[in-house]
Amino acid sequence: MKAILVREFGGPEVLKLEEIPTPRPAAGQVLVRIHAVGVNPYDTYMRNGVYAIKPPLPYTPGSDGAGVVEAVGQGVNKIKPGDRVYVAKTVTGAYAEYALTLESQVHPLPAKVTYAQGAGVWVPYGTAYHALYQCTRARAGETLLIHGASGGVGIAGVQMARAMGLIVLGTAGTEKGLELVKREGAHHVFDHTKPDYREQILKATGGLGADLILEMLANVNLGHDLKLLAPHGRVVVIGSRADVTISPRDIMTRRGSIHAFTLWGATEDEEKEIHAGLIAGLENGTLRPIIGKELPLAEAPRAHKEILEPGAFGKIVLVP
Ligand code: NAP
Repeated sequence: MKAILVREFGGPEVLKLEEIPTPRPAAGQVLVRIHAVGVNPYDTYMRNGVYAIKPPLPYTPGSDGAGVVEAVGQGVNKIKPGDRVYVAKTVTGAYAEYALTLESQVHPLPAKVTYAQGAGVWVPYGTAYHALYQCTRARAGETLLIHGASGGVGIAGVQMARAMGLIVLGTAGTEKGLELVKREGAHHVFDHTKPDYREQILKATGGLGADLILEMLANVNLGHDLKLLAPHGRVVVIGSRADVTISPRDIMTRRGSIHAFTLWGATEDEEKEIHAGLIAGLENGTLRPIIGKELPLAEAPRAHKEILEPGAFGKIVLVP
């Protein structure tokens, strides 16, 4: 099969398309013919060798994908060959024509969800679900700011929070991104490249601030977020690419709190709940992954460059 292999940590150019043996499922494993692969920012940090998880070399990147079950190992009874599935973590990596997974890592893909959309489920929607339902227990009627709403996690958060009954404020850095965030359910949108956008956010909350903030770029925004919080408000740090200075008084005076997590740390029980919730949302149409770009698998280096550039529009997906 064809697969992307990383033989040394480095820039996007270390992603090479190679011919390698197609794996076979052992007991408890599933072999999935991958039709679409979700590209996530963490794939680039891991490829650089700077991520908390440093896989042994060589490795095939990717935790997110969707396709059809090709074969199952002994003892697998949840799923059978021919089933449409999405993949949430793998044994051998999703940037490939076939990926080996554990039985617990494949989930039914509802009929109306395309493979490209299925590849955009696990990390983006799992993260939004964990942030809103499990980490902060968001409640209908609360005001939520999604700081970075135009990308994978942001759009997932907008759709989910809107369906939960929150008042959703979202930011993006381009006109196209702002339109998308609005279309997917945000009540108010703001351009995070404009100098006065934080005052605009405060104004839109009647000067009270947001009850909840999902933060995609904490190294730039965390200090400012604390000034945009309502009393007892919570910030969830989802993404950060460097250090940041904050004024603790901003959070003390509001009796606020800062939460943070990585999705890797979700427990087995939390994961079960996440998938049940996501599948229900995909089935009833409240969750609709948005695919901004589809590229051939061989163009993985380009996808890794573009995912870090401004101008997000949902997901970038690779097609093997
Ligand atoms: P993405 O699709 O690349 O989207 C990035 C988002 O950040 C876009 O909405 C982008 O907006 C926005 N952004 C750019 N500059 C910003 C600024 N100054 N202020 C606020 N937002 C800004 O990435 P993603 O998949 O949504 O992930 C977002 C971040 O969360 C990444 O850092 C990722 O590594 C992290 N993450 C963490 C977890 C976890 O487990 N903790 C899970 C998933 C993702 P424009 O492009 O419109 O400017």
